[in-house]
Amino acid sequence: MPESLKKLIDIIAYLPWIWEKSAARLWFFLLKANSTYVSNFSKQLEKIKTQIKTCNSCFGYTDNDNWICSICSDNSRDQDVICVVEDYLDLISIEKLKIFKWQYHVLWWSISPVNWILPKDLKFQELFEKVKKLKYKEIILAINPNIEWEATSMYIKENLLNIDINITKLSKWLPNAGYIEYADEITLINAFKWRN
Ligand SMILES: [Zn+2]
Repeated sequence: MPESLKKLIDIIAYLPWIWEKSAARLWFFLLKANSTYVSNFSKQLEKIKTQIKTCNSCFGYTDNDNWICSICSDNSRDQDVICVVEDYLDLISIEKLKIFKWQYHVLWWSISPVNWILPKDLKFQELFEKVKKLKYKEIILAINPNIEWEATSMYIKENLLNIDINITKLSKWLPNAGYIEYADEITLINAFKWRN
């Protein structure tokens, strides 16, 4: 096997969720794909580290030069509601629904003392400052149903006790074992529509 091919397989197999057989299928696909696709693929891959940065407002991702993502800079969106998510993938899942046009805040973790993840490791202070300054009417805790998130939402509620804001969470439409990222569209829409 050519050395360059071996290297490519090693690189692909290093990716999470890719088994050896899938890695082999992927390099075979890339080998046969047209050169425009492969060159585009490699260009976009390089941009991950050079152009994609964290939005200074919601802490999601952006490639805008001013470090503010297209969601945060869109004035036509609902400025009264902010939706707090643990992970950027949750934000993507909600945006894919194309129904809810609110603001976001990505925490990037949930509190988990057993894993040494404490409030200081999350984007809490930025959230509390934003809530105080921008006077939202509602904050939605888009919670994945697990113990860590219970602790996280408790922490948020305690810190917003003196703020006049409606704190809501997803309704029980989201099954206990379900996560926002994996929920089907209807379930997710209902979970948000019937939030309480
Ligand atoms: Zn943003």
